[in-house]
Amino acid sequence: MTALKDRITAQIKREGPLSVAEYMAVCLFDPTDGFYPTRDPLGSEGDFITAPEVSQIFGELLGLWCVQSWRDMGSPKDIHLIELGPGRGVMMSDMLRAGKLDPNFIQAAKVTLVEASPALEAVQGQTLAGSPCPITWASSLDASPEGPCLIIGNEFLDCLPIRQFIRKGDVWHERIVHIGKDGKLEFAISPAADKSVDLSHFVNVPDGALVELCSGLAQMADSLQKRFTRNDGRALFIDYGPAKPEIGDTLQAISKHKKVDPLTSPGNADLTARVDFGYLKSKAESEELSVFGPTTQAELLLNLGLAQRQAALSQRFPDKAEKLAAQTERLVSADQMGELFKAICIQSGGLPLPAGFSR
Ligand code: SAH
Repeated sequence: MTALKDRITAQIKREGPLSVAEYMAVCLFDPTDGFYPTRDPLGSEGDFITAPEVSQIFGELLGLWCVQSWRDMGSPKDIHLIELGPGRGVMMSDMLRAGKLDPNFIQAAKVTLVEASPALEAVQGQTLAGSPCPITWASSLDASPEGPCLIIGNEFLDCLPIRQFIRKGDVWHERIVHIGKDGKLEFAISPAADKSVDLSHFVNVPDGALVELCSGLAQMADSLQKRFTRNDGRALFIDYGPAKPEIGDTLQAISKHKKVDPLTSPGNADLTARVDFGYLKSKAESEELSVFGPTTQAELLLNLGLAQRQAALSQRFPDKAEKLAAQTERLVSADQMGELFKAICIQSGGLPLPAGFSR
């Protein structure tokens, strides 16, 4: 038993079952035993690998995307680059290196990192020690400095806790985590219907089917709306998930690069769910924001010049050409990250079409 499992079990005995979202939040972010605060989970030695850890080109292209976005906004004197969930800081480091191609952009850029994990914050500080721009940390997007901004998040939205609901006739019952007869944590279905939850964006859900609701996506749309009313801004999120709301349980636990049972070792596995891009889009559009995409990661990266950058690097470092080709393949091929991963851009009114997207 992990210390966290003991505490969760005691809490359920005391206060009753947890929603899946409450369970996810405590497993990921408990300050003493949660998955993120207690480790650096990234890389081949860790639990999972992300696109910026696969290839430097990923961050470089997004850095150039930021330069173009800054120009689209009229090259403001100060631009806040806000990264949500920066992991080891590798993507920001690659972005800023590419951003140096325009010294005026680097002069204007002020970086804010929004990170929930003290362990990862320390790693970010090391990775970005030689940064050409000032770096600060903030506890949330809402707590980030005011002003024109570019917001970027790779594999951030998939960590936002989801609730799960099962349709029974005309009502929804929430899926919960409780203690089974054998004393182990177990999924169950709340006997009482939830009369207040709004799942109207799901259509044609068969009786007995499960759907997921990520309230963090609605909150994100709300935060962006507030921020973009005061100042110009553009946000880019890349993550895994479907373009339209889908039915089914997508809660996934990963430990040491393997899928594991989400209930057996709380705090020791990464818990994520597919991002409901359709829901985020509809929430952002109902807030009068401009939304582009979701498009596939492959399309975004190829539109931004992935193949050209790979060719240039391969020419300069011929002994690395094979490795570069394999890395590119991993980012864009349909049977790896290319299609499942999507990109969505949300921006304030009046800005032009963002680079990499089409109407
Ligand atoms: N973007 C990085 C890391 C992805 S892992 C990469 O692509 O490699 C998810 C990251 O988001 C971690 O840094 C994690 O600590 C952070 N995170 C997740 N939920 C968060 C939240 N609600 N607030 C702040 N950081 C969060």
